[in-house]
Amino acid sequence: MWDFETDPDYQELLDWADEFVREEVEPLDLIWPHLQFTPLTETRREVVDPLKNRVRQKGLWATHLGPDLGGQGYGQLKLALLNEILGRSQWAPIIFGCQAPDTGNAEIIAHYGTPEQKHRYLRPLLEGELFSSYSMTEPQGGSDPTQFTTSAVRDGDDWVINGWKYFSSNANTASFLIVMVVTNPDVSPYQGMSMFLLPTDTPGVNIMRNVGLYGEREGEGSHALIHYDNVRVPDSALLGGEGQAFVIAQTRLGGGRIHHAMRTIGLAQKAIDMMCERALSRETAGSRLADKQAVQEYIADSYAQLKQFRLMVLHTAWEIDKYNDYKKVRKDIAAVKVVMPTVLHDIAWRAMQVHGALGVTNEMPFLGMVTGAAVMGLADGPTEVHKTTVAKQVLRGYRASDDIWPSEWLPRKRDAARERFAEYLDLEAGNS
Ligand SMILES: Cc1cc2nc3c(=O)[nH]c(=O)nc-3n(C[C@H](O)[C@H](O)[C@H](O)COP(=O)(O)OP(=O)(O)OC[C@H]3O[C@@H](n4cnc5c(N)ncnc54)[C@H](O)[C@@H]3O)c2cc1C
Repeated sequence: MWDFETDPDYQELLDWADEFVREEVEPLDLIWPHLQFTPLTETRREVVDPLKNRVRQKGLWATHLGPDLGGQGYGQLKLALLNEILGRSQWAPIIFGCQAPDTGNAEIIAHYGTPEQKHRYLRPLLEGELFSSYSMTEPQGGSDPTQFTTSAVRDGDDWVINGWKYFSSNANTASFLIVMVVTNPDVSPYQGMSMFLLPTDTPGVNIMRNVGLYGEREGEGSHALIHYDNVRVPDSALLGGEGQAFVIAQTRLGGGRIHHAMRTIGLAQKAIDMMCERALSRETAGSRLADKQAVQEYIADSYAQLKQFRLMVLHTAWEIDKYNDYKKVRKDIAAVKVVMPTVLHDIAWRAMQVHGALGVTNEMPFLGMVTGAAVMGLADGPTEVHKTTVAKQVLRGYRASDDIWPSEWLPRKRDAARERFAEYLDLEAGNS
C-alpha cells in the first residue's frame, strides 16, 4: 500500500492546531521571545497553562508518546505533520509538550530509565513542569565523542564526576542534566562511556558561562559551559547501565534530529509564505515582483526544494514508525540532517532578498532563520559527519568490482550480449 493521505479525523485536528498556533501561540514569540525554556512566572503561567490545557483537551499533548506516558501513541509520522505547524513558532512546541531537547531526553529515560528515574524525572518532564539538558559535547571537540575526557570514578556506592562540558543547551534553566562520561578508560570508548541523570543543583555542577548565539545579547545565552567539579552521584543515577552511553546516544540523537527536521519544514514554509505575499504586493520597474522571472525562479526553487525535503522527512518518520528502531533508519535520518540546513538557508535567503532592505532588518525574521540554518548544520552533529554516515551506509549495499574494469564496462557487457544472442545476430547477418 502506498498512500499520501492524512486521515480525515487527524486532518481536522491539524487544521485546529494550525489556527490555534497562528492566533494564540505565535503572539507569545513577540511578547516573551526566548523565554520558552525559562520556568514560568505567575503571570506567564496565567497565559501558558490554559493554552496547554486546550492542547490536552484536543488530545494533541506529547502525541508521539504512548498513553502510558501521557501521549496518544500517534508515532513519528503524525508528529511530523503536527511539527510542521509548530515549527512556525518558538513557543508552540512547549505548548504542545514536544520541545527539543526535552523530547529526546524524555525518550531515552522512557526507554532506559528505572521506575524510580521515570517517577523522578520523566513524569514532571512530560507534564511540562520542568526542563532538561543533555550534556555531551566537550570544549575540545564535539563531533568525535571518542575524544571526551569527562569521567566518573567509582567511590564506594557513589560515582564522582570530573571534567568540562560545553554547549549543554538550557542547563541554566533545566532541573536535571543527562551527562555522558568515561567510566572505563581501559576499554574502547564505545563500551567505556556511560550516562548519568543528576539534578542541576547537585554540588559541584558549576555553570561557568551561558554562551549565546549570534544576535543574542551577552547574558541571554542558553548554552552552558559546565565544570563538573567532584560531582558525587549515587549508583542509581546511572541511566541504562554502565557502558551504555553510545547505544543510548543513538536513540537520543536519532529522535532529536528528525524532530528538528519536522519543525524546519514549518519554518521554511513560513518563509515561502512571506516571500509570495511580498512578491504579489510590491511593484517595481512596471510590474509586480511576482512577474519578474528571477523572483519566479526563487519561488519555484523554494517550493520544489521544500517539497523534496518534506517527502524525505515524512518518509523517514514513516520508517521510524514501521521499524521502531532508529538504527535501521540511521541512513535516512542522517540524510535528512544533511539536507536540512541547506533547505532552510536557501529558502530564507531568497525570501529575505525579495524583501529588499526590509528583509535584513530586525523587523523581519529572515536573518534569524539564516542563523538557525547554520545552527542546524552543527547541533546534533555537523553536516560533514552525517554525510560520512550516509556514505558509509550507502556503500554497504555495494561491493568492489571483481577485476580492473567496472561491472558496467560496456565492451565486456557488449561481448556478453553478443555471445548470448549470437544465433539471432547470425540470422540477421544472413538475411541482410
Ligand atoms: C545551538 C546548538 C545547540 C547545541 N546543543 C547541545 C546540547 O544540548 N548538548 C550537547 O552536548 N551539545 C550541543 N551542541 C553541540 C553540538 O553537538 C556540537 O557543536 C557538534 O557536535 C560539533 O562539535 P564542535 O562544535 O566541537 O565542532 P568540532 O567537532 O570541532 O568540528 C568543527 C568542524 O570540523 C569539521 N569536522 C568535524 N568532524 C569532521 C569529520 N569527521 N569529517 C569532516 N569534517 C569534520 C566540520 O566542519 C565541523 O563543523 C549544540 C550546538 C549548537 C550549535
